[in-house]
Amino acid sequence: MAKKQDLSAEPGGTMKNKTGSWRTYYPVVDHEKCIGCGTCDKVCPEGICYKVGKKNKAGHEYYDNDLDYCKGCGLCAEECPVKCIEMKFEEK
Ligand code: SF4
Ligand code: SF4
Repeated sequence: MAKKQDLSAEPGGTMKNKTGSWRTYYPVVDHEKCIGCGTCDKVCPEGICYKVGKKNKAGHEYYDNDLDYCKGCGLCAEECPVKCIEMKFEEK
């Protein structure tokens, strides 16, 4: 009988293993248009959308993404109610 092999050399969650190099597109947040609603944070499968801790001119605490772990799925851009996240092509 064939022996079961462990193909995972070093298992770990995405917060341990940076996954940003896999993507084709990456999100760019227009900080001035962001209304700080947190929708991107709720829908991001990686949990990497965060409040920057600064306010824009309209007085909203805007969000950004940790691109080291972003897979480029585009969910945040799709669900943002004011469409202030643009998915841009990643030049490699
Ligand atoms: S593109 Fe996907 S993984 Fe990247 S920040 Fe948006 S929701 Fe998260
Ligand atoms: S979903 Fe859009 S408006 Fe809401 S916090 Fe995220 S970037 Fe800002």
